[in-house]
Amino acid sequence: VAQAIKPHVAVLSSPGMGHIIPLLELAKRLVIHHHFHVSFLVITTNEVSAAQDQLLRSETLPLGIDVVRLSPVDVSAITTDDMPVGTRLCVIVEESLSKFLKTVLIELGKPIALVIDFFCTKAFDIGRELSIPTYSFCTTSIAFLAFSLYLPTLDREVDCEFVDLPGTINIPGCSPLQIQDLVDQVKNRKSDAYKRLLFFASRLPLSAGIFLNSWEDIEPITLKAVIENPFFKGIPTPPVHPIGPVIKEEEQPTDDLGIECLAWLDKQPPESVLFVALGSGGTLSYEQLTELAWGLELSQQRFILVVRKPTNGSNSAAFFTVGSDNVNHLKAYLPEGFLDRTAERGLVVASWAPQMAVLKHPSTGGFLSHCGWNSALESITCGVPMIAWPLYAEQKMNATMLAEEVGVATKPIINVEAETCIVGREEIERVVRVLMEGEEGKVMRRRAKDLKESAAKALAIGGSSYDSLACVAKEWNANPSMI
Ligand code: UDP
Repeated sequence: VAQAIKPHVAVLSSPGMGHIIPLLELAKRLVIHHHFHVSFLVITTNEVSAAQDQLLRSETLPLGIDVVRLSPVDVSAITTDDMPVGTRLCVIVEESLSKFLKTVLIELGKPIALVIDFFCTKAFDIGRELSIPTYSFCTTSIAFLAFSLYLPTLDREVDCEFVDLPGTINIPGCSPLQIQDLVDQVKNRKSDAYKRLLFFASRLPLSAGIFLNSWEDIEPITLKAVIENPFFKGIPTPPVHPIGPVIKEEEQPTDDLGIECLAWLDKQPPESVLFVALGSGGTLSYEQLTELAWGLELSQQRFILVVRKPTNGSNSAAFFTVGSDNVNHLKAYLPEGFLDRTAERGLVVASWAPQMAVLKHPSTGGFLSHCGWNSALESITCGVPMIAWPLYAEQKMNATMLAEEVGVATKPIINVEAETCIVGREEIERVVRVLMEGEEGKVMRRRAKDLKESAAKALAIGGSSYDSLACVAKEWNANPSMI
């Protein structure tokens, strides 16, 4: 009965663990710290992910969060098998929201606010129709948000392809953006992918406010820029609320694999293990995985390696199918004899590891990461420095920022002259040693530890991120109909 009188907020995530994880975490904070009742809306896809199912199981969630699954949509007539993952995702989101969101929000009794991610902008129209103020949650860095906010202006002012621009892209008030770090979608302005990104970006000002999954100490310059700068000429940027890091809390794995990872870590010396994992969708080619395995072996460092079926196609091939790999397949993906030769020093796991628990473990001393924003925040919050191995989306931007501005990552040197962009085993061996035993690694580890403390401060009661969210919660509570 007490539940019913709590103010009710809806949080809507597009598919993919990189979005569901932080939005669910925001939902938890709204329930636990600010006493809301939250409906967590999930867009259903046909693909099954064991990890996602586990995450959304009601018995693992605090009382006060209801997971509401939108009915599945049949997109077979409007998608093709060779469609890029991102495009397919957008089609599913668009269809689901057009068909079901309005009805669901009405059935839920019209929540006082709706929080969505970048891909759910269809919800702005429905929110307006139902008079529900709709907020965006930025699952990426503030730097990528600034780029998105500026993109419509850039689109109007630049005639050529962005990749043909000399030098860098200079977003007002922000650090220059390297052309080679641009997201793939903007490399061809005639492509549908570009048009879609531009559309999503141009809808951002419709947000009643934008939650940032970051805090001042990580991105001071860019935060100042988004607070002060109207990126759209004549259209002000909505109020921004830095509430990060919004990342998974402690997770105690209950599955055999997770338990095995932690038990293995318990037996290793402090800060001696490199954790190698490429997010929820990252995959490597056979050739790259072979080089990576050899690099790890040559470095003679301890490691946990999360392995997925290699693919020579998309480097985000596992996005929808993660968790379906079988531990028996691993041997076939890795160099012959690798598992035996490294048995003393390494642990290889299939598909998915309890990342947050691994990063938090005192034996973990480094993280070879694809630099998805959640992974980057998790690593920093655990005081663990990184080897930046960007694969897709805005990860190249993140990698450069983490290495050059934040100072918590090192990047392998890629021979751009070479025919393929494969990073060879010697280079991998080198960066692993730099991070795990070099002076540079020590400096990065110290910086990561400082930021770990800064994150804890920001999140504690009275800290900047805690207060930022509390402020919005207060507004919602004070006068919901006037927001
Ligand atoms: N993750 C995990 N175990 C894995 C791989 C990923 O728990 O083996 C989690 C990770 O902790 C993070 C999320 O999945 O919270 C991945 O999000 P990120 O933004 O780093 O990358 P994306 O998957 O969106 O590319």
